[in-house]
This record gives sequence, C-alpha cells and structure tokens, in this order.
Amino acid sequence: MTKCAYCNKSDVESRVSINTWDGLGRRDQDFYYCSDVCLREIEDFSEYVNQNAKRFLVFVGVIVLSMVFSNGLPGNASLIVSIAGLILGILLIKYPFATPLTNQWLGIKKAVLIVRGLGFGIALSEVAYISYQFIL
Ligand SMILES: [Zn+2]
Repeated sequence: MTKCAYCNKSDVESRVSINTWDGLGRRDQDFYYCSDVCLREIEDFSEYVNQNAKRFLVFVGVIVLSMVFSNGLPGNASLIVSIAGLILGILLIKYPFATPLTNQWLGIKKAVLIVRGLGFGIALSEVAYISYQFIL
C-alpha cells in the first residue's frame, strides 16, 4: 500500500524521486504524493532538510556533549543542563526533523507537528524549571 509522503493519505499513485537526506547522507528516494499541494510540501521540506540536516546534527551533538560534561562540573551544572535543554527545544521548533522512518510512518505533516510540539514542550518546561530554580 502506498501513502502520500506528506499527508499520509492511502492508495496514491503519483511518485517523485528526490535527492534528499536519509539520516546518513543524501540519496535518491521515492516519495508518493496525492496532490500538487502535497508534492510542493514534500519538495520544500526535502530542500529545507538538505540545507539544514548537518547543522541540526552538529547542534544536537554539541548540546548532548555539554549536558554530559556539565555533570562533572561543580556548582550550577543543572542550570547548564536546563539551558542546553532549552536550546534543544528551540532547535526542534526551528528544525522539526524526525527520523526518516518516522516521516514515512506518520507522513511529514504529522511528524513535523509532533516534533515541533515536543520542542515546545521541552522549551517551556526548561523555562519553568529555570525560573523556579534560579530566578524566583
Ligand atoms: Zn497528500
């Protein structure tokens, strides 16, 4: 069964091949789509991923490392972890990249919404934590 790569509608027949990021590198991948609108969304998203995937991965790597290493620091380690978490949340809102498998499973539209929602939730809870612990 084929599904629209963007809106996840079933039984679609139109197919396009786009050279885009698959998690490790760029390669040609087939995307099914139901309409011109969804085709444009798929092309725009693929372009955005191609432009930003590496930057996104580097940012995430730096954030995770700073979280790990701040554990060994004396003092306000939890503030560093919270700030890193806040940046991670903002990053997920700006670059709502799920794994390619998740995109396939849910459709890009829903996957982007979920990742943005997750980013928003993380950012908001870190702001609440930082305010409670360090400001109030
Ligand atoms: Zn569609």
